[in-house]
Amino acid sequence: MINFNVPPVAGNELKYIEDVILQKHKISGDGEYTKKCHHWIESKFKIKKALLTTSCTHALEMAAILCDVQPGDEVIAPSFTFVSTVNAFVLRGATIVFVDIRPDTMNIDENLIEAAITSKTKAIVPVHYAGVSCEMDKIMAIAKKYNLYVVEDAAQGVMSDYRGQALGTIGDFGTFSFHETKNYSCGEGGAILIRDSKYIERAEIIREKGTNRSRFFRGQVDKYSWVDVGSSYLPSEINAAYLYAQFESADLINDTRMTIWNRYYNELKLLESEGYIELPKIPEHCQHNAHMFYIKCKDLEERTSFIDYLKNEGIMAVFHYIPLHSAEAGLRFGRFNGVDKYTTLESERLVRLPLYYSMTDTDQNLIIEKIKEFYSK
Ligand SMILES: *Cc1c(COP(=O)(O)O)cnc(C)c1O
Repeated sequence: MINFNVPPVAGNELKYIEDVILQKHKISGDGEYTKKCHHWIESKFKIKKALLTTSCTHALEMAAILCDVQPGDEVIAPSFTFVSTVNAFVLRGATIVFVDIRPDTMNIDENLIEAAITSKTKAIVPVHYAGVSCEMDKIMAIAKKYNLYVVEDAAQGVMSDYRGQALGTIGDFGTFSFHETKNYSCGEGGAILIRDSKYIERAEIIREKGTNRSRFFRGQVDKYSWVDVGSSYLPSEINAAYLYAQFESADLINDTRMTIWNRYYNELKLLESEGYIELPKIPEHCQHNAHMFYIKCKDLEERTSFIDYLKNEGIMAVFHYIPLHSAEAGLRFGRFNGVDKYTTLESERLVRLPLYYSMTDTDQNLIIEKIKEFYSK
C-alpha cells in the first residue's frame, strides 16, 4: 500500500533526542535545541524573531492575541483553509469574513479583499495553499491603506518565497506548522515569526503563560510574575531536538520533494493538454516548496471514482478542505462576502497525490501508471 504521507526522518533525530535526555538533562522547553531552531529560522528566512510553538494552531492563537483582536472585530480569510486559520480569531470573539479564492492557486483572491473591509476589520489572514504564495504585494498595500494587521498562515509554506522573500516573513506575523504531514516535522509543532521587534517581548510573555519568565531567565528581572494573558505555547526540548535534525537536512528534503513534484508534473501534463485534468499553477514570481501535488478532476463525481480507483490499487489519494463558510461553525462565526464562485466548486474537484520525502521511484511510477490507466478508460 502507498500511503498519502510518511513523516520525514532526516537521520540525526534519535541522536539529538538522546542528547537532550541523557546529556543535557533538560526536556522542558526553551533549552539548547529550541534556541538552535530559533536561530536557524531567523537566519535562514531573515526574520527578526522566531519562537517555536506547540503547533501552528497555537502560533495563530498567539498572533490573534498580539493583534489585540477583540469581540466584534472582523477578520478576513479564505474559506478554503484549515479550521485553525480562523478558530484562533474566533476564540478572541472575532467574526470571520470569508472571501472567494482564485481558481489557479486556490489562494485568497487579493482583488476581492478590499470590498470585504468594514470599520470593524482588524486583520487579513492569507493562507499560502500548497506552499504557493498569495499575492502579497497587493495584500500588504491594502493592509497599509486601511491600517490592518496581516497574519500569514504559512503552515504549508516553509522554504517557499514570494519575490525572493520567505513566506511567513512578509506580514506582521507568520505561522509555520511542523505537524507530521508538513515538509519539516516534529510530530506536533509550529512557530510564530515576528517582523517588528516591538512585539517580541509580549510574544514571549503570551507564550510563557502570561509571565515574564523569559526576562527572568535572561536576568532582566529578579523574579517573574503574571503580567498579561497567555498560555503554555512552548514545545518540549524533545520535539525541538527532532525538529533541529530536520532543519539540518532542509535543503535535501526540499530538493527531494521538488524532484518528486516535477516528475508528477511532467508525467501528467499530457493528460492536462488532452483536457482530462488540471495541474497546479505556480505564478512566475513564486518559489514553491513542493508541499503538495494535487490535480483537479472534472467534477465531484469523477473525483470520487478517481479516489476509489486508486484506493483499489492500494494508493491513498485524498481530497482536502470542505469550505469553512458552509460548515456548521462557519455559519455561526462567519459570513461569506460576495459570491462563492470558486471556493466550493474548485474544492470539490481537487485531489492530492501521495508525496513524501522517502517516496521511491517504484511507488511513484505505479501511481502515475494507475492515473493514466484511469483516464484511458
Ligand atoms: C496544517 C495546517 C495548520 C495547522 O497546523 P498544526 O501545526 O497542525 O496546528 C493550519 N493552517 C494550515 C493552512 C495548515 O495546513
